[in-house]
Amino acid sequence: MGLGTSSFRSALTLALLLTLSAIAAADIIYLNTGGIIKGEIVDEDDDQVIVKTKYGEVPVNKDDIDFIERGTVSEIFQQRLKKVNKRDSDAIVELGGWAQSVGLKKEAEQMFRMAIEIEPNHYFARMELGHRRHKGKWLAVDEYNKAIGLVKYEGQWVTKEDAQKLKAGFVRYGDDWIKKDDLEMARKGYRKLDGKWVSKEEYYKAKGYVKYKDKWVKPEQLEKIKKAEEARARRLKMLKLAKQIKMAFKIRCSFQPDAQKMHLERFGKIVQKASEKIWDMTGGGIYIAEAHIYDKKSDGDVIVQNLDEIKVRTKGGSTAYGYAQKGGKMTVGGKCLILTFVHEFGHAKFSLPDHYGEQVDCIMNAGDGAKHMKFMYCTNQSRGKQGCWETIIKRYPGLKRPKEAGEDFDEPPETKIIITDN
Ligand SMILES: [Zn+2]
Ligand SMILES: [Zn+2]
Repeated sequence: MGLGTSSFRSALTLALLLTLSAIAAADIIYLNTGGIIKGEIVDEDDDQVIVKTKYGEVPVNKDDIDFIERGTVSEIFQQRLKKVNKRDSDAIVELGGWAQSVGLKKEAEQMFRMAIEIEPNHYFARMELGHRRHKGKWLAVDEYNKAIGLVKYEGQWVTKEDAQKLKAGFVRYGDDWIKKDDLEMARKGYRKLDGKWVSKEEYYKAKGYVKYKDKWVKPEQLEKIKKAEEARARRLKMLKLAKQIKMAFKIRCSFQPDAQKMHLERFGKIVQKASEKIWDMTGGGIYIAEAHIYDKKSDGDVIVQNLDEIKVRTKGGSTAYGYAQKGGKMTVGGKCLILTFVHEFGHAKFSLPDHYGEQVDCIMNAGDGAKHMKFMYCTNQSRGKQGCWETIIKRYPGLKRPKEAGEDFDEPPETKIIITDN
């Protein structure tokens, strides 16, 4: 299941999130066994309650009931707010996550703001509020964009150079800027040269560009590109000779909605950063060698559910940072956190389980353990099972385990990003 915020305190809360989300009015009956029944209490006596559920009316013995939360989700939120420890930022974020999952957006935001009053560096609360870290300070999105030198043009944050082009009536077309009126012809493969429509080929040749691997580049860039490629190829060969690389993943990432090139490219950067983390976490032994990113399909190893969100909707209708099946596909948002990507990758490609509330540095921590999430695979065997690292090393013998999260193992080989905007 999803990379929990601290909000996913346990499997129990999670089940609740999944079942409750669509309903505005509900009573929630918590059983001693840990189970939950959700519905409307239509009758009650000393011995039992009758709950009207989606599947019909169910009698429940009071002896089997731990406690009941009654009322609409707003009422339940208020009850929970009264009970929550106002000094416990994790508990407050958990309540915020719950509020969010049942559609109480304003209340959710209130909770996240409350949490950062107590703990200014609460990562999940900051992420939920859309804050970004810049030079050691947390900034709201707009401030962050300003700080990195972007300007607002017609509601969008763009670079200063782009804003000038846009103001002058140009639009982006691939790597080029062209006049808005020329867009239709450009789509047909033509370019305007001295007021005349010519083929792309003629246009770039006239401008002195050369073709290299299906791309038109300036001659002065060509040398640089080739040198960088050679250096990368040499290094890759050396690593292969040293048998340091145990696995080079090739993955396919499919955006479900119709995406623009910028969305696909942005996701490419997420995959590249995730690859760097996995590289360091496996002592420079595993990385993502290639990612094909495309849109309007759902057939990838990685399903990207939306364009601009860090979270996704689960089948039950609630929200989560992401989800995956062990050894299966993973689903994330178009702007997912690197933490989320690497966590879900752990489920999907290494068949690793979630663990909850455990005081170990591990990327697979979830729920109450989410605050211990680190870019690290644990050797924690306290669950009577093998640790995450043992699972991985069994499959890929010879990997080196970093001593601590963040230990650097040089640059990983390049992650080749292939983009197809359907
Ligand atoms: Zn998980
Ligand atoms: Zn672990």
